[in-house]
Formats: sequence, C-alpha cells, structure tokens
Amino acid sequence: MDCPFCKSPKAGVIDSRKSKRDDRLTVRRRRCVACGASFPTVELPVSLPDLEAKLDMVQRFEELPANLLRAVSDVLKLTADDKDNQLIR
Ligand SMILES: [Zn+2]
Repeated sequence: MDCPFCKSPKAGVIDSRKSKRDDRLTVRRRRCVACGASFPTVELPVSLPDLEAKLDMVQRFEELPANLLRAVSDVLKLTADDKDNQLIR
C-alpha cells in the first residue's frame, strides 16, 4: 500500500477492525515508515456474482471524504463565528 502523502510503498498496518457500518468491510489504519503519516484503508472481499453490488458499496464509501470535509468545514465555520462573537462582546 503506497502512502497517499509521500507515495512511499512502506506503509505498515498498525490496527485492523471490522467496519461499524458494515461488518463485511475491514478497516485498517496504516502508518508510513518514510513520513510517519497515518491513514485508513478499507478492504472488501469480492466474489464475481455480487461484484456489481460491492462496487456500488465502494462508490458510496468514496463519497465519505467529501461529506467529512463538509462536516469539518461546518465545525470550523461555527468556531470562527464563536470567536467573532466573543470579539464583539
Ligand atoms: Zn508517507
């Protein structure tokens, strides 16, 4: 597994568990030996008869980062608003 940050191929598994959302998925946390970054990966066993359904599942999972970014930006906006309100007082 290549590190998504520095592209080093030396990223080892530091934790492994079943997904809380779907126990067919295995979520692994990996740490890059080269740059020290950690990142999750998702493993999905695939057999040919249900390949199409599982590809759908993977696509839905890929939508997660965009949703997470939106959630984080909402939280940051709220925090910034709080600061502005404190400055006005
Ligand atoms: Zn790295």
